[in-house]
Amino acid sequence: MPSASPLRDRFADGAQYIGGKLRPGTSGRFQDVVDPATGATLLTYELASTADVDDAVAAACAAFPGWSRATPAERSEALQRFAAVLAARADAFARTESVQCGKPIKLVTGFDVPGTVDNTAFFAGAARHLEGKSAGEYSGDHTSYVRREALGVVGSIAPWNYPLQMAAWKILPAIAAGNTIVLKPAEITPLTALMFAQAATEAGIPDGVVNIVSGTGPVAGEHLVSHPDVVMTSFTGSTAVGQRVAALAAATVKRLHLELGGKAPFLVFDDADLEAAVHGAVAAALINTGQDCTAATRAYVQRPLYEAFVTGVAALMETVRLGDPGDPHTDLGPLVSHAQRDRVAGFVERARATATVVTGGRAPGGALADGAYYRPTLITGADRNSEIVTAEVFGPVLVALPFDTDDEGLRLADDTPYGLAASAWTRDLYRAGRATRELRAGCVWINDHIPVISDMPHGGYGASGFGKDMSSYSFEEYTQIKHVMYDNTAVARKDWHRTIFGDR
Ligand code: NAD
Repeated sequence: MPSASPLRDRFADGAQYIGGKLRPGTSGRFQDVVDPATGATLLTYELASTADVDDAVAAACAAFPGWSRATPAERSEALQRFAAVLAARADAFARTESVQCGKPIKLVTGFDVPGTVDNTAFFAGAARHLEGKSAGEYSGDHTSYVRREALGVVGSIAPWNYPLQMAAWKILPAIAAGNTIVLKPAEITPLTALMFAQAATEAGIPDGVVNIVSGTGPVAGEHLVSHPDVVMTSFTGSTAVGQRVAALAAATVKRLHLELGGKAPFLVFDDADLEAAVHGAVAAALINTGQDCTAATRAYVQRPLYEAFVTGVAALMETVRLGDPGDPHTDLGPLVSHAQRDRVAGFVERARATATVVTGGRAPGGALADGAYYRPTLITGADRNSEIVTAEVFGPVLVALPFDTDDEGLRLADDTPYGLAASAWTRDLYRAGRATRELRAGCVWINDHIPVISDMPHGGYGASGFGKDMSSYSFEEYTQIKHVMYDNTAVARKDWHRTIFGDR
């Protein structure tokens, strides 16, 4: 792990990245970045003020004409260089992401960092595939075509659970399409978003195309959403804050892209491969210490497999090794903060009154007592409408419930206002087909749960929001369509003028 001082040195100039340079905030308010594995403060920085947000938006406005007029090939080449810089810095990104979030080094080196490099490489290619769909003589007298245009300055707000990947998911499609951007990371985890922006500059992406304001939601976030020079808000975070953001964005009629919370069902039919379902459930519930919007949270298991599933999941959870995130043998790190750990513990304590905690349900002591750790937790016997079954816990907690008929299982899986992700486990082709049709979620896996891929869209239904990250579908969010119509007749008095001059 990097010691605190290299990080302090790296961000000695401040934690705001505006116009291609790091500088301090000007709010007079300071924020600690804390290692959740130990509680140690890694560095302290001055938060962004509304004036800092104004400066970042001004830098993005100034960069927009040049960047939006760069050819697709020029933007693509810049993004290819960007991917190469990220790959060369993979180790520093992995160590910094691990220490600011408490993520096990296995996770950051196997998922966060390579996923980000791949996403950058994907958008380097996709930048050359932006196209309008139509060109032709639709009226007979005109040639029409569609121009796909960049929007302008995008304002993005990201959560703390995957700070590097969320920065990449927001920044890459926006700039590949010719926009410029101001991103506000979560104030407790700004470091890898700042490093990502620095890498963009190092790759030759012009100053002002990518700006980072490290500030709080109510100050920097709300100002960015309300800013009249920002044309779009792209937000990833909780549904409650997303609702507030949507209300604020309405005042300036901004385009919105909302990636919100989730409560993913994990539906196991009685013909499923039990070993695969048990391993899949534990991995999908515990990834990133359960702080994943698509994590498996509600396992519905058909009655004949239910007892064996519960026994298998509990036994496997008990083998999971909690420990120092920097140790390559650590399976599960702490939660992102002590506050998040206490929030998760609160959900489990309230559930205990009516449900059974089969395993976990407590923080470890001993050498891990100072960290924000919580043991993998399996809960059974919960009421279907209780808080632990319906609310987003965002921790290493899985609830298992039995069902009898396929109809009942599918109904329970869909019984949530969220709709981000779901999985079904079966060896029956027809059951799988029915599940993919009926599960109401932006992503449905069959016999797996979690993998994402740069080429495919990620986004929710219902209270999980709307719009897509990743893939060429994300360009629908970050571009606008212009219909251009040329007259082909060269006639001064056109036929349609009858509607005004008809009797003359
Ligand atoms: P959060 O909603 O508390 O915060 C998200 C971001 O919004 C942070 O940067 C925060 O500073 C900012 N913010 C807070 N109040 C704001 C306000 N009034 N105006 C503007 N911005 C404001 O979420 P979190 O706790 O950081 O992250 C966890 C949540 O994110 C979970 O609900 C999770 O499901 C969701 N999430 C969703 C996806 C997805 O793709 N759908 C991905 C990751 C995380």
